[in-house]
Amino acid sequence: MLNFVLFGPPGAGKGTQSQKLIDKYQLIHISTGDLFRAHIKNQTLLGQKVSSLIADGQLVPDAITIAMLEEEVDKNPEAKGFIFDGFPRTVPQAEALDEFLESKGSNIAGVIALDVDQDELTKRIAQRQKETGRVDDQADKLQKRIEEYFNKTVHVLPYYQAQGKLKKVNGIGKIEDVFADLCAVIDQY
Ligand code: ADP
Repeated sequence: MLNFVLFGPPGAGKGTQSQKLIDKYQLIHISTGDLFRAHIKNQTLLGQKVSSLIADGQLVPDAITIAMLEEEVDKNPEAKGFIFDGFPRTVPQAEALDEFLESKGSNIAGVIALDVDQDELTKRIAQRQKETGRVDDQADKLQKRIEEYFNKTVHVLPYYQAQGKLKKVNGIGKIEDVFADLCAVIDQY
């Protein structure tokens, strides 16, 4: 299996680029944000548990998130590999993912971090809020998500850097140009 983590702050373009990557590389895309939103929409027990946290822009507790992620991976035993999007978002999640993949004789091949400055992120999310009405894209909720990102999620970068797996890609510019840069990284594997 060839597994990648697509990493970046809220609004970096992980979802957009993941969609293009799975078309090209036949990898399975797992977005924990999309999974949580589907649970909320379908009013599952899990959805009921996490909906207020997500609406507030807070991270869902690690234990819940890790269990959901592992279950999703196990639904795809034939996969050639995965693109993890929005996971791991904390160091304990990154450790759990390593342990889980190792138990399957696999690992994370590379972590691709989309680099986008704060001004551009704020603009993109304001636009997305208009288009989709995502509650957690509202200004005050977004502020909380950015705080969560800087308090908890950025620490995932040195974790993978220490493993020699971190690659940075400029996330500003045309979608096609960012995609070409991402493909150039993936093609090295
Ligand atoms: P973004 O646009 O910030 O990339 P996502 O769609 O990935 O948003 O995630 C939306 C929300 O879902 C997060 O703000 C958080 O509440 C929850 N969430 C998603 N992935 C995780 C995770 N790995 N750990 C904890 N919470 C998560």
